[in-house]
Amino acid sequence: MSRRKKNFPCGHKGYGQVCHRCEQKHLTREKNKQRKNEWEETFARDPINLRTLPKNVVVKARRIIRDLQRQKSYIDFHGKRLRHDRFVISIPVTRSYRLLCRDCGTILVPEAVVSHEDYNVCKPGG
Ligand SMILES: [Zn+2]
Repeated sequence: MSRRKKNFPCGHKGYGQVCHRCEQKHLTREKNKQRKNEWEETFARDPINLRTLPKNVVVKARRIIRDLQRQKSYIDFHGKRLRHDRFVISIPVTRSYRLLCRDCGTILVPEAVVSHEDYNVCKPGG
């Protein structure tokens, strides 16, 4: 007896109980969803909100924050004090993003990662 292709409700044709094309698609979607959730969950551990940033900026910003927590100097990251607020230190993350930290004496507290445009808006007279 020869096996005949079935018409699945999804519109695909194939053999077996379920449509393997849709099953595969479903599995891929689930895997992607899970990967996305895992990525979302990592933001809960950040001291500042990095959710809106591109992934490469998030990864670099985290590395800098972690190293600062380990007493590495902001100077190692080419950070500079702002001219109009000496207690704020601006550290380049990428070409277009920088991490702003507040100098609290013995520690640097990360405050935000801002894009170059945002950063320029913050400057008085800018
Ligand atoms: Zn299907």
